[in-house]
Amino acid sequence: MVSRVIPVDDFDLVIFGATGDLAHRKILPGLFRRFKAGQIPATSRIIGAARTAQDDDAFRAEAAGAIREFGGVTGEDPQLAEFLSLLGYVAIDARGEGGWQELKARMRPGAVHAFYFSVAPALFGDIAERLAGHGIADDDSRIVVEKPFGRDLASARALNATLAQHFHEHQIYRIDHYLGKETVQNLMAVRFANVLFEPLWNAQFIDHVQITVAETVGVAGRGSYYDKSGAIRDMVQNHLMQLLCLIAMEPPYHFDPDAVRDEKLKVIRALEAVPPQDIVRGQYRGHDDDYLKDAENPESRTESYVAMKVRIANWRWQGTPFYLRTGKKLRARTSEIAIIFKEPPHSIFDDSGQPKANELVIRLQPNEGMNLKVMIKEPGPGGMRLVQVPLDMSFADALGPDGADMPDAYERLIMDVIRGNQTLFMRGDEVEAAWAWTDPIINAWEDSKRRPEPYDPGSSGPDEALRLMHRDNRRWREIRS
Ligand code: NAP
Repeated sequence: MVSRVIPVDDFDLVIFGATGDLAHRKILPGLFRRFKAGQIPATSRIIGAARTAQDDDAFRAEAAGAIREFGGVTGEDPQLAEFLSLLGYVAIDARGEGGWQELKARMRPGAVHAFYFSVAPALFGDIAERLAGHGIADDDSRIVVEKPFGRDLASARALNATLAQHFHEHQIYRIDHYLGKETVQNLMAVRFANVLFEPLWNAQFIDHVQITVAETVGVAGRGSYYDKSGAIRDMVQNHLMQLLCLIAMEPPYHFDPDAVRDEKLKVIRALEAVPPQDIVRGQYRGHDDDYLKDAENPESRTESYVAMKVRIANWRWQGTPFYLRTGKKLRARTSEIAIIFKEPPHSIFDDSGQPKANELVIRLQPNEGMNLKVMIKEPGPGGMRLVQVPLDMSFADALGPDGADMPDAYERLIMDVIRGNQTLFMRGDEVEAAWAWTDPIINAWEDSKRRPEPYDPGSSGPDEALRLMHRDNRRWREIRS
């Protein structure tokens, strides 16, 4: 299958924080891959901006190093030099007044103008204000803001209000890179471009849903930063919530940014409060790998793991819980959504084994794809015996060489910014609604003074999380890559 690459319009993209980790790891290598794919016009400009004093050539050398290190470029790549010629650099302190006029002079009239805020959130307001104040951004410009978008409802509201002073909502692209993953978009295609699943996509046929985002890394190196956040703020409020919304939402009337986001918002608003008995927090504790050591805070009560049972109060999902879990230092690095259907109401196969429930598993990583477990007859002459088999579709296999070379989430999302398509970005009211739901969960925990449950590094999380499921006569899927 050959995927079509549709070039975007000529653009000037300014990356604030171009000397930082995210720019090095994701943004610059991602842009290079899109350039190689023929999606970026050769006239486009990518301008790095940060406080570090350097000229265009020094930034090009820095970008080349990052692209080689993180973009899988080995040996000579003639297109790399071509790509680097698109790059420029302006030294700017987000809180100072120097450099802005030089940046303005570099922006070409007629090109799409986008500004990527790949800096600490505390600087978002400063940059927005100066872009507008120096007349660099206008009503057609776009700004891209990174996570975290606030640390609670009050700070998210304040940030939205600050950005709204200078930009309209249709100009603001709040990144949640989970939404840029191929499988996540495929979830919408599977649901809304087939008749097969949608009639079954409700509490009558779905027993429960499991969403798992498991990481093997700990927080060493950025422990003191993480310790102020924790798994609920860092993962649940944004990434897991977005996945939940895409599974639970009603069909939008059209695949249009506001229609899709309206439906997601309705889901968030329908989430019930989570009682303390439906949530388990954990901290990895071990001799070598120890959260308290990594966080440099022996008294820390911040969770590196959370599991929770979430209920959606609407007709479609009444009685079908969504179980969410995410954590660090777990057994394997994996992200998946599992839709566990109900068992057939009656078995006609007396002695041949009870039919098991169908499962649709959507893998986000590794090896993006889908797997549908169905019952079939065990092959052979042994009579009618039932066996469950997977119908497995790995996108890399199904799509051939194009599947293996799918754009990374960041690449896809940056191209959407240039196209002016906000479907895969969070709207301000969505982010606020998500915080309005998580705030009471976080506050109740902070008031409780309880400590997270310890779990072994390399395990599946705390035993309490297993009990959360067992209590409901259900079990988590195994965490494995
Ligand atoms: P980082 O490595 O600390 O880089 C920060 C960047 O901001 C540097 O380029 C720094 O360059 C620049 N900067 C700092 N103060 C500045 C100022 N006053 N004016 C202008 N530029 C300034 O951070 P990062 O990891 O790249 O993260 C950037 C943003 O992305 C953060 O909001 C983070 O939460 C988010 N994010 C990062 C990742 C990731 O994997 N790294 C993942 C998800 C989200 P100078 O020192 O040269 O000024």
